[in-house]
Parts: sequence; structure tokens; C-alpha cells
Amino acid sequence: MAGQWYAGRTPTPHEDAGSKGGEQARHLRVGMESLHRADPELAGLLDAEIRHQDATLAMIASASVADPSVLAAGGAALSNVTAEGYPAARYHPGAARFDEVELLAIERAKDLFGAQYANVQPHSCSSANLAVLTALIPPGGTLLGLGLDAGGHLTHGSPASVTGRHFNAVHYGLDRLGRIDYAQVAELAHQHRPKVLIAGASAYPRTVDFDRFRAIADSVGAYLLADISHIAGLVAAGEHPSPINAAHITTTSTYKQLGGPRGGLILSGQDHRAPGPDGRTPLFRLMQRAVFPQSQGTPSPATIAAKARAFSLAAGPEFKDTARLIVENAAALAAELSALGYRVLTGGTDNHMVLLDIIDRGPTGVVAERALEQCAILANRNRIPGDTKPPLVTSGLRLGTNILAQRGMGPEQMRECARLVHTVLSATTPLSDTEYLIDPVRAARIREDVKDLCARYPLSVEAGFNNPAALIGAGQ
Ligand SMILES: *Cc1c(COP(=O)(O)O)cnc(C)c1O
Repeated sequence: MAGQWYAGRTPTPHEDAGSKGGEQARHLRVGMESLHRADPELAGLLDAEIRHQDATLAMIASASVADPSVLAAGGAALSNVTAEGYPAARYHPGAARFDEVELLAIERAKDLFGAQYANVQPHSCSSANLAVLTALIPPGGTLLGLGLDAGGHLTHGSPASVTGRHFNAVHYGLDRLGRIDYAQVAELAHQHRPKVLIAGASAYPRTVDFDRFRAIADSVGAYLLADISHIAGLVAAGEHPSPINAAHITTTSTYKQLGGPRGGLILSGQDHRAPGPDGRTPLFRLMQRAVFPQSQGTPSPATIAAKARAFSLAAGPEFKDTARLIVENAAALAAELSALGYRVLTGGTDNHMVLLDIIDRGPTGVVAERALEQCAILANRNRIPGDTKPPLVTSGLRLGTNILAQRGMGPEQMRECARLVHTVLSATTPLSDTEYLIDPVRAARIREDVKDLCARYPLSVEAGFNNPAALIGAGQ
């Protein structure tokens, strides 16, 4: 019966105990209990996923693990509030508490990144990019971004994205060493006079020089958009130079490296009051409109609560330790894979990511991805510069250390991870671009080794993620 436990129902002693954590805690507890009772099929899948995540070596560069408190905030009944607009300027009544939550998320985002403006409503970084680009570029206007094959993102003007179809997208690439070709960026900027220059990548293992990008943008009167979707955690922790004051606008996902909920974020620093393309409307005001009403409707209140929680965690000392470990681990992983004979693009890494030319060793990207997954290791296929294979096949493999560091693994365990990857790939015989053979006995043995490593560094709720200091050594 709808609403049966809201009113007139005596809580069981168990629920009563739960209510000591507050109304929301009781809500979540009752919700999970009823999910298990009423929908065991779905509940079983959700439980299986937790076991799977704990027993899998996830080296997905675009993922991190959200703290249980972030997930709990994301499941809040605040989600029931419908309120278009912004705090104190809603189009619906009843949003006073949501206003406070959104203001808290905004303040925490500004504090975390040293920004003067934040919009926490974008449902994803793709939505954030779309909002920013449509606010700053007229239909058919020009943008300049990193090409998809060179490591750029779909929303940076790929023909597969609306940003490549509604704007005139020009792309820069990499130099011989696999680094961003800043000379080419400057040349293309002067040639094409873009309205927006985008600095940021989905597959780039090196430091991005935001100041250099800004100088180029200024030389042609373009706005600089920094997309830090992949490196937001390192930026927040001071492990990568911050673009907040170098760029006019910065966008990011909140789940990739921030340990937050699925969602996006728009930030601006010292230029938040700079005039927009009309020569007078300040950028921050344009961004407000660009998200709502121009490209989104109602915000997602519980997700914004979860963002507020994640920003608070990311401001803590444990998160900084994790960020440092992420970078140390990636360097160790790259070094060990190099030593094992793999071609590491750019020869190493400055961030959380290691890119391999995998076809150099035989398998395509997709074969490597599938063989690894069969052995409980997750790393994704990735296009590499000059790739001759189609996007679903690819010649590269992208590995990331976010989750390994969150589990408390350090450089010593990275050598173990590299050797596990090597053992899988050595046991794999490619039959075609997409098919392969692997000896099932060897695969089973590797899965046992992976399970053992994961068990030593569990994603245990009780241990507390983002606290490698407490975890390192504990597993050995
Ligand atoms: C992943 C990614 C995005 C898109 O983020 P979503 O939140 O998944 O929409 C945008 N830009 C870059 C550079 C990314 O890596």
C-alpha cells in the first residue's frame, strides 16, 4: 500500500534502532529491507554487483568508488522534491531544504576547487559541456578541441556528437612524442579563430598546461574551457595544476575521480564575471541560464546532496593521500609494464592513467579487454594515435589506478598488477580482431591470484575508502 509506512504505522524495534541515525537512515533501511522482500530478483543483482566489485581488479581510468555515505545521500528522499530553477528562485514551492542542500554543495565545490562560481546541477559532464558550448558559441560557430583519436572526448566536437554537428569543430592533435602539440594548437587557433578552445582529455597520461592554452585562447579572443573530467580528483588534491583561474570555465564529471555520484559540475574562477559573447552578460550568469532553462529541466536533488557529501570528503586529508598514491601507483604501473616489454605511450605518465599500444604485442584492444575480464581484471580498449582499427576494436589499452589506490594498494602491488596483466596477455592467443583463445586452466589460476590480491585489499565498507593510510600494510 502506497505510503503505508509514512503514517499510522508503528515502527518495528529494528526500524526504531535505525531511526537513531535519523529519519533518512530509517528510510534507507526500510527501503532496502522491502526491496529484498518484494523484489529479490533485483536485490540479488545489486548484491551480486557488490561482491563482483570487491573481487575484481578494476583498472578503469574513468571510475572511482563512491563512499557508502555518498551513495546513501544519493538515495535520499530529497529526491521527491521537484524544483526547477535555483535556490531562492524556484518555479515550485516546497524547496527550502533542497535550497540549503544545493547552496551547501555549491559552497563545498567552490571551496574544494578554489572557485568563485559553481553550478552543481548538470546531470553529467556531457550535459555540462553542452550547456557551456551552446552558451558561448552560436550555431555553426567554431570550436577547437583535442581530436577523439588523440585522446579527446566525444563532446569536444566529434562528428558522432551533437557538438560536432551543430558547431564547426576543428581538432588539434599530438606531437611525435605523444604530447599535446601546442604549436599546432596556436596555428589552428590563428587559422580558424574559434569561439571556444577546449583543453582536456579522456585518454592523455600527461600534465595539461592550462596557462599555455590560455595564452593561445587570449591571442585569438577565444574562451578557454578546461574539461577536467578525468583528473578532477588530482586537481582538487593539488596533484595536477588547477585550471580554475587559467580557464574561463571548467567542467568535470563528479564520479570519475571525485568518488561522487553520477553527475557533472561547472566551475569558474577569477573570470567568472568576464563578459560573455554579447560583450556585457557576465559568464556566471550565462552559465546559470545555459544549464536551466536552456539545456536541462529539473535538477536531481538527491544527487546534488551526494555531490555535497563527495566534495566534503574530497577536501579531507585522506583524499589527498589517495590522490598522491594514485599518481605514484600509475608511475609504478607504467614502469613495470615497460620493463615487461609493453609500449607505454609517451613513455610513462604524470596522472592516474597508463596508455598501452597493445597491438604491438599481438592482441587488439578489444581482445586484451575481453581476455583480462575473463580473468577478473578490468581495463578498457582505447584508440591510440594513428589507430588503424575501428573504435570497437582499437589497438590500445587504457589502465587507471584510482580504484587500486582507494583499495589501499601501493607501488609494490602495482608490480603485482602489471605482472597479472602480463600473465593474462601472454596466455592469450588472438584468432582475429575480436576472438581469442586462452587456456581455461591458466585463466582459472589467474582468477584465483586476482581474487587473492583483491581479498588482501578489500573494498570493505567498514575499512573506509579513501583512507589508504589506514589500509596500506593492513592487507599484507
Ligand atoms: C567522461 C568525459 C566526459 C563526459 O562525462 P559524463 O559525465 O560521462 O557525461 C566529458 N569530458 C571528458 C574529458 C571525459 O573524459
